[in-house]
Amino acid sequence: MTDRIREFLSLRRPDGPCLVVDLDVVRDNYRTFATAMPDTRIFYAVKANPAPEVLRALAELGSNFDCASPVEIEAVLDAGAGSDRISYGNTIKKERDIQRAFALGVRLYAVDSVEEVEKVARAAPGSRVFCRILCNDTGNTAEWPLTRKFGCVPEMAVDVLEHAHRAGLEAFGVSFHVGSQQGNVEAWDGALSAAAAVFRASAERGIQLKMVNLGGGFPAKYLREMPTVRRYSMAIGSALRKHFGNRLPETIIEPGRGMVGDAGLIKAEVVLISRKEKDDPVRWVYLDIGKFGGLAETMDEAIRYPIRTRHDGSEAAPCVLAGPTCDSADVLYEKTPYDLPISLTIGDEVLIEGAGAYTTTYASVGFNGFAPLRSYVI
Ligand SMILES: *Cc1c(COP(=O)(O)O)cnc(C)c1O
Repeated sequence: MTDRIREFLSLRRPDGPCLVVDLDVVRDNYRTFATAMPDTRIFYAVKANPAPEVLRALAELGSNFDCASPVEIEAVLDAGAGSDRISYGNTIKKERDIQRAFALGVRLYAVDSVEEVEKVARAAPGSRVFCRILCNDTGNTAEWPLTRKFGCVPEMAVDVLEHAHRAGLEAFGVSFHVGSQQGNVEAWDGALSAAAAVFRASAERGIQLKMVNLGGGFPAKYLREMPTVRRYSMAIGSALRKHFGNRLPETIIEPGRGMVGDAGLIKAEVVLISRKEKDDPVRWVYLDIGKFGGLAETMDEAIRYPIRTRHDGSEAAPCVLAGPTCDSADVLYEKTPYDLPISLTIGDEVLIEGAGAYTTTYASVGFNGFAPLRSYVI
Protein backbone atom coordinates (compact mmCIF):
# COMPACT_ATOMS: atom_id res chain seq x y z
CA MET A 1 0.00 0.00 0.00
CA THR A 2 1.33 3.43 -0.87
CA ASP A 3 1.50 6.27 1.68
CA ARG A 4 -1.03 8.23 -0.38
CA ILE A 5 -3.57 5.39 -0.23
CA ARG A 6 -2.95 4.89 3.50
CA GLU A 7 -3.51 8.59 4.13
CA PHE A 8 -6.66 8.67 1.97
CA LEU A 9 -8.20 5.73 3.82
CA SER A 10 -7.40 7.10 7.26
CA LEU A 11 -8.73 10.59 6.47
CA ARG A 12 -11.78 9.71 4.36
CA ARG A 13 -12.77 6.42 6.03
CA PRO A 14 -15.06 5.44 3.12
CA ASP A 15 -17.86 3.10 4.11
CA GLY A 16 -18.33 -0.17 2.22
CA PRO A 17 -15.93 -1.88 -0.14
CA CYS A 18 -14.04 0.44 -2.47
CA LEU A 19 -11.07 0.60 -4.79
CA VAL A 20 -8.48 3.33 -4.29
CA VAL A 21 -6.10 3.96 -7.20
CA ASP A 22 -2.87 5.91 -6.76
CA LEU A 23 -2.21 7.81 -10.00
CA ASP A 24 1.47 8.25 -9.07
CA VAL A 25 1.90 4.49 -9.42
CA VAL A 26 0.14 4.48 -12.81
CA ARG A 27 2.44 7.27 -13.99
CA ASP A 28 5.51 5.40 -12.70
CA ASN A 29 4.40 2.24 -14.49
CA TYR A 30 3.93 4.17 -17.73
CA ARG A 31 7.41 5.66 -17.45
CA THR A 32 8.87 2.23 -16.69
CA PHE A 33 7.39 0.81 -19.90
CA ALA A 34 8.45 3.85 -21.91
CA THR A 35 12.02 3.69 -20.59
CA ALA A 36 12.42 -0.08 -20.94
CA MET A 37 10.94 -0.13 -24.46
CA PRO A 38 11.82 3.24 -26.00
CA ASP A 39 11.22 2.10 -29.59
CA THR A 40 7.78 0.69 -28.87
CA ARG A 41 4.56 2.69 -28.77
CA ILE A 42 2.35 2.09 -25.73
CA PHE A 43 -1.40 1.49 -26.21
CA TYR A 44 -2.98 1.24 -22.75
CA ALA A 45 -5.72 -1.45 -22.72
CA VAL A 46 -8.61 0.70 -21.50
CA LYS A 47 -10.73 -2.19 -20.23
CA ALA A 48 -8.29 -2.84 -17.38
CA ASN A 49 -9.39 0.38 -15.67
CA PRO A 50 -11.29 3.03 -17.64
CA ALA A 51 -11.51 5.60 -14.82
CA PRO A 52 -11.42 9.07 -16.45
CA GLU A 53 -8.58 10.17 -14.15
CA VAL A 54 -6.45 7.20 -15.25
CA LEU A 55 -7.13 7.90 -18.93
CA ARG A 56 -6.35 11.60 -18.48
CA ALA A 57 -3.06 10.93 -16.66
CA LEU A 58 -1.94 8.51 -19.36
CA ALA A 59 -3.06 10.82 -22.17
CA GLU A 60 -0.96 13.60 -20.62
CA LEU A 61 2.07 11.31 -20.58
CA GLY A 62 1.65 10.65 -24.30
CA SER A 63 0.11 7.18 -24.15
CA ASN A 64 -1.94 5.67 -26.96
CA PHE A 65 -5.02 3.57 -26.21
CA ASP A 66 -6.40 0.15 -27.11
CA CYS A 67 -10.21 0.33 -27.11
CA ALA A 68 -12.87 -2.33 -27.56
CA SER A 69 -16.03 -0.28 -28.15
CA PRO A 70 -17.28 3.19 -29.13
CA VAL A 71 -17.88 3.99 -25.46
CA GLU A 72 -14.23 3.33 -24.64
CA ILE A 73 -13.17 5.37 -27.68
CA GLU A 74 -15.29 8.33 -26.52
CA ALA A 75 -13.84 8.05 -23.01
CA VAL A 76 -10.33 8.30 -24.44
CA LEU A 77 -11.26 11.29 -26.63
CA ASP A 78 -12.80 12.96 -23.57
CA ALA A 79 -9.53 12.35 -21.73
CA GLY A 80 -7.76 14.50 -24.29
CA ALA A 81 -6.06 12.01 -26.61
CA GLY A 82 -6.67 12.42 -30.35
CA SER A 83 -8.18 9.72 -32.52
CA ASP A 84 -4.74 9.11 -34.05
CA ARG A 85 -3.75 7.65 -30.68
CA ILE A 86 -6.55 5.05 -30.66
CA SER A 87 -6.64 1.46 -31.86
CA TYR A 88 -9.95 -0.39 -32.12
CA GLY A 89 -8.46 -3.67 -30.95
CA ASN A 90 -11.54 -5.85 -30.65
CA THR A 91 -11.79 -8.42 -33.44
CA ILE A 92 -15.56 -8.70 -32.92
CA LYS A 93 -17.30 -5.45 -33.85
CA LYS A 94 -20.74 -4.50 -35.08
CA GLU A 95 -20.53 -2.73 -38.42
CA ARG A 96 -22.35 0.31 -37.03
CA ASP A 97 -19.80 0.49 -34.19
CA ILE A 98 -17.01 0.53 -36.78
CA GLN A 99 -18.89 3.34 -38.57
CA ARG A 100 -19.09 5.26 -35.31
CA ALA A 101 -15.37 4.77 -34.63
CA PHE A 102 -14.55 5.87 -38.18
CA ALA A 103 -16.70 8.98 -37.76
CA LEU A 104 -14.76 9.71 -34.56
CA GLY A 105 -11.52 9.53 -36.54
CA VAL A 106 -10.19 6.06 -35.65
CA ARG A 107 -8.11 4.58 -38.47
CA LEU A 108 -6.55 1.47 -36.90
CA TYR A 109 -8.55 -1.76 -36.52
CA ALA A 110 -7.98 -5.36 -35.44
CA VAL A 111 -9.36 -8.25 -37.48
CA ASP A 112 -8.98 -12.01 -37.39
CA SER A 113 -11.24 -13.10 -40.25
CA VAL A 114 -12.16 -12.26 -43.81
CA GLU A 115 -15.72 -11.62 -42.61
CA GLU A 116 -14.54 -8.87 -40.24
CA VAL A 117 -12.32 -7.39 -42.98
CA GLU A 118 -15.43 -7.00 -45.13
CA LYS A 119 -17.11 -4.94 -42.39
CA VAL A 120 -14.06 -2.72 -41.85
CA ALA A 121 -13.63 -2.19 -45.60
CA ARG A 122 -17.25 -0.97 -45.85
CA ALA A 123 -17.46 1.05 -42.64
CA ALA A 124 -13.89 2.39 -42.32
CA PRO A 125 -12.55 2.58 -45.88
CA GLY A 126 -8.81 3.01 -46.33
CA SER A 127 -8.01 2.31 -42.68
CA ARG A 128 -5.09 0.31 -41.36
CA VAL A 129 -5.80 -3.21 -40.17
CA PHE A 130 -3.72 -5.73 -38.28
CA CYS A 131 -4.58 -9.41 -38.05
CA ARG A 132 -4.56 -11.15 -34.71
CA ILE A 133 -3.01 -14.60 -34.68
CA LEU A 134 -3.75 -17.37 -32.21
CA CYS A 135 -1.11 -17.82 -29.64
CA ASN A 136 -0.99 -20.92 -27.51
CA ASP A 137 0.43 -20.54 -24.06
CA THR A 138 2.35 -23.81 -24.42
CA GLY A 139 4.02 -23.71 -21.03
CA ASN A 140 0.79 -22.70 -19.28
CA THR A 141 2.65 -19.80 -17.77
CA ALA A 142 -0.09 -17.17 -17.94
CA GLU A 143 -2.17 -16.90 -14.78
CA TRP A 144 -5.15 -15.54 -16.70
CA PRO A 145 -4.76 -17.36 -20.04
CA LEU A 146 -6.59 -16.24 -23.16
CA THR A 147 -8.17 -19.06 -25.06
CA ARG A 148 -9.06 -19.60 -28.69
CA LYS A 149 -11.67 -16.87 -28.81
CA PHE A 150 -9.44 -14.33 -30.59
CA GLY A 151 -7.10 -14.78 -33.52
CA CYS A 152 -6.69 -17.15 -36.42
CA VAL A 153 -3.86 -19.49 -37.38
CA PRO A 154 -0.90 -17.65 -38.97
CA GLU A 155 -1.47 -19.28 -42.38
CA MET A 156 -4.97 -17.81 -42.45
CA ALA A 157 -3.72 -14.40 -41.31
CA VAL A 158 -1.83 -14.13 -44.61
CA ASP A 159 -5.11 -14.57 -46.50
CA VAL A 160 -6.98 -12.19 -44.20
CA LEU A 161 -4.36 -9.48 -44.73
CA GLU A 162 -4.31 -10.05 -48.49
CA HIS A 163 -8.09 -9.75 -48.51
CA ALA A 164 -7.79 -6.45 -46.64
CA HIS A 165 -5.21 -5.19 -49.13
CA ARG A 166 -7.47 -6.05 -52.07
CA ALA A 167 -10.43 -4.40 -50.34
CA GLY A 168 -8.58 -1.08 -50.24
CA LEU A 169 -7.46 -1.24 -46.62
CA GLU A 170 -3.84 -0.92 -45.53
CA ALA A 171 -2.60 -4.36 -44.42
CA PHE A 172 -0.53 -3.00 -41.58
CA GLY A 173 0.64 -5.90 -39.43
CA VAL A 174 0.07 -8.72 -37.01
CA SER A 175 -1.01 -8.86 -33.37
CA PHE A 176 -1.18 -11.47 -30.64
CA HIS A 177 -1.61 -11.74 -26.88
CA VAL A 178 0.52 -14.21 -24.95
CA GLY A 179 -1.95 -14.50 -22.04
CA SER A 180 -2.53 -12.12 -19.18
CA GLN A 181 -0.27 -12.10 -16.11
CA GLN A 182 2.34 -13.90 -18.19
CA GLY A 183 5.18 -14.96 -15.91
CA ASN A 184 7.45 -16.27 -18.65
CA VAL A 185 9.51 -13.59 -20.41
CA GLU A 186 10.20 -16.05 -23.26
CA ALA A 187 6.49 -16.41 -24.05
CA TRP A 188 6.73 -13.89 -26.93
CA ASP A 189 9.28 -15.97 -28.85
CA GLY A 190 6.89 -18.47 -30.46
CA ALA A 191 4.39 -15.77 -31.41
CA LEU A 192 7.12 -13.59 -32.94
CA SER A 193 8.34 -16.56 -34.98
CA ALA A 194 4.78 -16.97 -36.33
CA ALA A 195 4.46 -13.21 -36.92
CA ALA A 196 7.71 -13.18 -38.93
CA ALA A 197 6.40 -16.05 -41.06
CA VAL A 198 3.25 -14.00 -41.80
CA PHE A 199 5.48 -11.05 -42.79
CA ARG A 200 7.50 -13.26 -45.19
CA ALA A 201 4.47 -14.95 -46.76
CA SER A 202 2.78 -11.56 -47.23
CA ALA A 203 5.91 -10.10 -48.83
CA GLU A 204 5.83 -12.98 -51.33
CA ARG A 205 2.36 -11.75 -52.28
CA GLY A 206 3.66 -8.22 -52.68
CA ILE A 207 2.32 -6.92 -49.35
CA GLN A 208 4.82 -5.23 -47.05
CA LEU A 209 3.59 -5.47 -43.47
CA LYS A 210 5.05 -2.91 -41.07
CA MET A 211 3.86 -3.45 -37.52
CA VAL A 212 3.83 -6.11 -34.82
CA ASN A 213 1.45 -5.59 -31.91
CA LEU A 214 3.00 -7.44 -28.97
CA GLY A 215 -0.21 -7.28 -26.91
CA GLY A 216 -0.42 -7.26 -23.13
CA GLY A 217 0.52 -9.94 -20.63
CA PHE A 218 2.91 -7.83 -18.54
CA PRO A 219 2.27 -8.76 -14.92
CA ALA A 220 1.09 -6.90 -11.87
CA LYS A 221 2.56 -7.91 -8.55
CA TYR A 222 0.27 -10.29 -6.66
CA LEU A 223 1.57 -12.97 -4.29
CA ARG A 224 4.21 -14.39 -6.60
CA GLU A 225 7.37 -12.50 -7.50
CA MET A 226 7.45 -11.55 -11.20
CA PRO A 227 10.24 -10.53 -13.61
CA THR A 228 10.83 -6.80 -14.15
CA VAL A 229 9.59 -4.94 -17.24
CA ARG A 230 13.23 -4.62 -18.26
CA ARG A 231 13.60 -8.40 -18.42
CA TYR A 232 10.50 -8.65 -20.64
CA SER A 233 11.90 -5.93 -22.84
CA MET A 234 15.27 -7.70 -23.25
CA ALA A 235 13.67 -11.07 -24.03
CA ILE A 236 11.24 -9.51 -26.53
CA GLY A 237 14.07 -7.51 -28.13
CA SER A 238 16.20 -10.60 -28.68
CA ALA A 239 13.21 -12.60 -30.01
CA LEU A 240 12.51 -9.76 -32.46
CA ARG A 241 16.12 -9.78 -33.70
CA LYS A 242 16.12 -13.57 -33.93
CA HIS A 243 13.01 -13.74 -36.12
CA PHE A 244 13.17 -10.46 -38.06
CA GLY A 245 16.96 -10.02 -38.39
CA ASN A 246 17.89 -6.43 -39.11
CA ARG A 247 14.53 -5.63 -40.71
CA LEU A 248 12.82 -4.90 -37.44
CA PRO A 249 9.12 -4.02 -37.67
CA GLU A 250 7.48 -1.12 -35.88
CA THR A 251 6.16 -2.45 -32.54
CA ILE A 252 3.44 -1.57 -30.07
CA ILE A 253 2.46 -3.01 -26.68
CA GLU A 254 -0.95 -2.98 -25.01
CA PRO A 255 -0.40 -3.26 -21.26
CA GLY A 256 -3.51 -3.30 -19.09
CA ARG A 257 -2.81 -5.20 -15.89
CA GLY A 258 0.86 -4.21 -15.88
CA MET A 259 -0.09 -0.53 -16.07
CA VAL A 260 -2.76 -0.29 -13.35
CA GLY A 261 -2.86 -3.56 -11.37
CA ASP A 262 -0.48 -2.62 -8.58
CA ALA A 263 -1.75 0.99 -8.48
CA GLY A 264 -5.01 -0.02 -6.78
CA LEU A 265 -6.08 -1.40 -3.44
CA ILE A 266 -9.52 -2.61 -2.38
CA LYS A 267 -10.65 -1.89 1.16
CA ALA A 268 -13.12 -4.52 2.33
CA GLU A 269 -14.54 -5.83 5.59
CA VAL A 270 -15.02 -9.22 7.25
CA VAL A 271 -18.78 -9.89 7.50
CA LEU A 272 -18.70 -13.35 9.06
CA ILE A 273 -16.22 -15.96 10.25
CA SER A 274 -17.75 -19.39 10.82
CA ARG A 275 -17.15 -23.12 10.48
CA LYS A 276 -19.11 -25.87 8.75
CA GLU A 277 -18.67 -28.24 11.74
CA LYS A 278 -17.79 -27.56 15.34
CA ASP A 279 -14.16 -28.68 15.22
CA ASP A 280 -13.53 -28.01 11.57
CA PRO A 281 -9.96 -26.67 11.29
CA VAL A 282 -10.92 -24.57 8.28
CA ARG A 283 -12.71 -21.27 8.93
CA TRP A 284 -14.98 -19.73 6.34
CA VAL A 285 -14.27 -16.02 6.06
CA TYR A 286 -16.94 -14.00 4.26
CA LEU A 287 -16.02 -10.55 2.98
CA ASP A 288 -18.28 -7.72 1.82
CA ILE A 289 -16.80 -8.13 -1.68
CA GLY A 290 -16.66 -11.24 -3.82
CA LYS A 291 -16.72 -12.49 -7.40
CA PHE A 292 -19.67 -10.26 -8.33
CA GLY A 293 -18.40 -7.17 -6.54
CA GLY A 294 -15.22 -6.91 -8.60
CA LEU A 295 -13.10 -9.96 -7.79
CA ALA A 296 -14.19 -11.93 -10.88
CA GLU A 297 -10.61 -12.86 -11.68
CA THR A 298 -10.62 -15.24 -8.71
CA MET A 299 -12.56 -17.49 -11.11
CA ASP A 300 -10.85 -20.91 -11.00
CA GLU A 301 -8.69 -19.27 -8.29
CA ALA A 302 -6.60 -17.84 -11.14
CA ILE A 303 -5.53 -14.54 -9.62
CA ARG A 304 -4.46 -14.71 -5.96
CA TYR A 305 -4.44 -11.25 -4.45
CA PRO A 306 -2.25 -10.37 -1.48
CA ILE A 307 -4.55 -9.65 1.48
CA ARG A 308 -3.43 -7.53 4.44
CA THR A 309 -5.06 -7.28 7.86
CA ARG A 310 -4.17 -5.47 11.07
CA HIS A 311 -3.11 -8.84 12.54
CA ASP A 312 -0.41 -9.56 9.96
CA GLY A 313 2.62 -11.27 11.45
CA SER A 314 0.60 -13.18 14.04
CA GLU A 315 -0.19 -16.89 13.74
CA ALA A 316 -2.21 -17.75 10.63
CA ALA A 317 -4.34 -20.72 9.57
CA PRO A 318 -6.06 -21.73 6.34
CA CYS A 319 -9.45 -20.23 5.46
CA VAL A 320 -11.95 -20.55 2.71
CA LEU A 321 -12.56 -17.03 1.47
CA ALA A 322 -15.97 -16.12 0.09
CA GLY A 323 -18.05 -13.15 -0.98
CA PRO A 324 -21.33 -11.82 0.44
CA THR A 325 -23.87 -12.71 -2.28
CA CYS A 326 -26.41 -15.52 -2.26
CA ASP A 327 -24.77 -17.29 -5.19
CA SER A 328 -22.80 -20.38 -4.23
CA ALA A 329 -20.32 -19.61 -7.02
CA ASP A 330 -19.30 -16.58 -4.96
CA VAL A 331 -16.34 -18.35 -3.33
CA LEU A 332 -12.92 -16.80 -3.92
CA TYR A 333 -10.42 -19.38 -2.66
CA GLU A 334 -11.36 -22.90 -1.56
CA LYS A 335 -9.34 -25.46 -3.59
CA THR A 336 -6.20 -23.72 -2.38
CA PRO A 337 -7.21 -22.22 0.97
CA TYR A 338 -5.87 -18.84 2.00
CA ASP A 339 -3.83 -18.37 5.19
CA LEU A 340 -5.24 -15.59 7.35
CA PRO A 341 -4.46 -14.67 10.98
CA ILE A 342 -6.27 -16.69 13.64
CA SER A 343 -7.06 -13.47 15.50
CA LEU A 344 -9.01 -12.06 12.53
CA THR A 345 -12.49 -11.06 13.71
CA ILE A 346 -15.84 -10.03 12.31
CA GLY A 347 -15.81 -6.33 11.37
CA ASP A 348 -12.07 -6.24 10.69
CA GLU A 349 -10.91 -4.31 7.66
CA VAL A 350 -9.00 -6.26 5.02
CA LEU A 351 -6.90 -4.68 2.29
CA ILE A 352 -6.73 -6.45 -1.05
CA GLU A 353 -3.62 -5.39 -2.93
CA GLY A 354 -2.92 -5.36 -6.66
CA ALA A 355 -6.58 -4.67 -7.37
CA GLY A 356 -6.27 -1.77 -9.83
CA ALA A 357 -6.96 -3.88 -12.95
CA TYR A 358 -10.10 -5.76 -13.96
CA THR A 359 -12.10 -5.05 -10.81
CA THR A 360 -14.41 -2.03 -11.25
CA THR A 361 -15.17 -3.20 -14.80
CA TYR A 362 -16.10 -6.68 -13.61
CA ALA A 363 -18.38 -5.59 -10.76
CA SER A 364 -22.07 -6.43 -11.23
CA VAL A 365 -24.59 -3.59 -11.32
CA GLY A 366 -26.44 -4.51 -8.18
CA PHE A 367 -26.63 -8.27 -7.58
CA ASN A 368 -28.49 -8.88 -4.30
CA GLY A 369 -28.62 -5.12 -3.85
CA PHE A 370 -24.87 -4.77 -3.46
CA ALA A 371 -23.74 -1.58 -5.20
CA PRO A 372 -21.09 -1.71 -7.93
CA LEU A 373 -17.53 -1.32 -6.66
CA ARG A 374 -16.88 2.30 -5.79
CA SER A 375 -13.63 3.77 -7.00
CA TYR A 376 -11.51 6.70 -5.83
CA VAL A 377 -8.59 7.84 -7.96
CA ILE A 378 -6.13 9.94 -6.04
C1 LIG B 1 -7.19 -7.14 -22.48
C2 LIG B 1 -6.27 -6.88 -23.59
C3 LIG B 1 -4.99 -6.39 -23.34
C4 LIG B 1 -4.43 -6.17 -21.95
O1 LIG B 1 -3.89 -7.36 -21.44
P1 LIG B 1 -3.10 -7.37 -20.06
O2 LIG B 1 -2.70 -8.79 -19.91
O3 LIG B 1 -4.02 -6.88 -19.01
O4 LIG B 1 -1.92 -6.48 -20.22
C5 LIG B 1 -4.19 -6.10 -24.42
N1 LIG B 1 -4.63 -6.27 -25.69
C6 LIG B 1 -5.85 -6.75 -25.97
C7 LIG B 1 -6.28 -6.90 -27.38
C8 LIG B 1 -6.71 -7.07 -24.93
O5 LIG B 1 -7.92 -7.54 -25.21
